[in-house]
Amino acid sequence: MAYNEDLEKFNELIESFSKLPTIGKKTAIRLAYHICTGNRFESIKLAHNIENALHFIKPCQQCGALSENELCGICVDKERNKDTLCIVQTPKDILTIEESKSYQGFYFVLNELDGDKLIKLEQMILKLNCKEIIFALPHSLNSDAIIFFIEDKFKDLNLQFSKIAQGIPSGVSLENVDMISLNKAINYRTKLEN
Ligand SMILES: [Zn+2]
Repeated sequence: MAYNEDLEKFNELIESFSKLPTIGKKTAIRLAYHICTGNRFESIKLAHNIENALHFIKPCQQCGALSENELCGICVDKERNKDTLCIVQTPKDILTIEESKSYQGFYFVLNELDGDKLIKLEQMILKLNCKEIIFALPHSLNSDAIIFFIEDKFKDLNLQFSKIAQGIPSGVSLENVDMISLNKAINYRTKLEN
């Protein structure tokens, strides 16, 4: 029997690590050894933090950002600009845009567009009474179709539609764009013809 073959739990741990983004097989093995031979308290704390995150962190009922409450910190923030609503693909994109400090409005996380999402989006537009929808989606044919669909769906609400533009190369996700490019992309967004 080869070394490690009888370590069923250990191999399962390696497998779990290797399913995480950016973690290859070698790193997964290194992490598994670290967990099993390193500081035991830190490893238990890690397991506990993962469990807690899964238990307490849920999508914000209004915008879909990650939150520990029914509504996220941005949705309850009275200082934010109600005129603009920025549509992003994932909750992580909100963090990226917030770090660029180039936007003060609200967000809506699209993930997959379905009937339920459309209802939530409409509710949010009406509640904010916003004037502009900014699409901050990764450039792709699918995004173009979604933008077209949403514009058409809400064409009677008297909204300006814009798309973040310069500096975001096709197929690159927001988190990989540098802050200066992202800042420009938001400030010099392109207005879409209604
Ligand atoms: Zn929210």
